Amino acid sequence: MYDRIYNFSAGPATMPELVLEEIRDEMMNYRGSGMCVMEMSHRSQVFQGIADQAEQDLRDLMGIPANYKVLFIQGGATLQFSMIPMNLLHPGRVADYIVTGNWSKKAYKEAKKFGDIRLLASSEDRNFSYIPDVSDLPVSDNADYVYICENETIHGTTYQTLPNTKGHVLVSDQSSMFLSKPCSVADYGMIYAGVQKNVGPAGMVIAILREDLIRSDLDDTLPIYMNYKTHADSGSMYNTPNCWCIYVCGKVFQYLKKLGGLAEMHRLNQEKAAILYEFLDNSKLFHGTVEPQFRSLMNVPFVTGSKELDAEVIAATKAAGFDNLKGHKSVGGLRASIYNAMPKAGVEALVDFLKKFELEHR
Ligand SMILES: *Cc1c(COP(=O)(O)O)cnc(C)c1O
Repeated sequence: MYDRIYNFSAGPATMPELVLEEIRDEMMNYRGSGMCVMEMSHRSQVFQGIADQAEQDLRDLMGIPANYKVLFIQGGATLQFSMIPMNLLHPGRVADYIVTGNWSKKAYKEAKKFGDIRLLASSEDRNFSYIPDVSDLPVSDNADYVYICENETIHGTTYQTLPNTKGHVLVSDQSSMFLSKPCSVADYGMIYAGVQKNVGPAGMVIAILREDLIRSDLDDTLPIYMNYKTHADSGSMYNTPNCWCIYVCGKVFQYLKKLGGLAEMHRLNQEKAAILYEFLDNSKLFHGTVEPQFRSLMNVPFVTGSKELDAEVIAATKAAGFDNLKGHKSVGGLRASIYNAMPKAGVEALVDFLKKFELEHR
């Protein structure tokens, strides 16, 4: 009835329809409050209830241990590229970065403004089409943390195993894979995710941070908004938070719980991705750009090998009701982002279309 299409955008991205419908139903009067959530004071009891429930549901979904804070911060994932070194890097110490694509490279470059940042490993030699061996890297003895981007949204790679940090704190950008599968939070010092990829609307990051990493010696030097302690001490309400985003993310957490949690979500994601990868592996026209063992379940880049033909496919998919399949310029070709909210039927329909296109263009 709404003429919706299959939207393969890398972010902001497709949302579960059930969630959109619930929001629609609550738009004019949120549960008897007489107002919409976007009209509500963030200091009101009703909104505090929404925020508390969202945090609790996220804790339940991921099994977040009690000694981790959950923070809702604005500025997107990009602000974390600066906040992480500003907060976690101590004078005279270093941080080790593993660069596996655009996003970890940006984080690495930004961090260099704040101290001694080392490049621990990189996969740039083959245009970030793989994840380097991270089982025995020369981690700096005086490293405050080891940094990774666990799923590279543009290059479509993902870690199969976490790096051996040799006892050092691991910081992970999970933006494009957050809540796509079960996660052992205790293996990390910090996990963060810009929510517009796999969870909610744009404009917020969720940071899950081990309490002992929050410092109290930065109050006089860091801009107050950039200090994790500010957000931890105020329950993410030092200033007006992104109320709307917290509300919608909370809806998605509820949706995932009802679906059966992250193990079930992972099963569905594997099933969906397998349909697309199997097609690519058997196609004579299209091929994936990532080494098979490092393929992402969320972002699937593929090419024909001809720029003209790539452009033709993209135009044809768009005309057929599939949108946002154009790949990022650094990889070219196409990219299908098949996040949690992309139904299996969407992937099947895309594969059917690509098969037909292939038959007509051989
Ligand atoms: C999109 C993305 C970012 C940047 O997110 P913003 O919210 O736009 O700042 C960072 N890291 C990853 C992995 C991303 O996919």
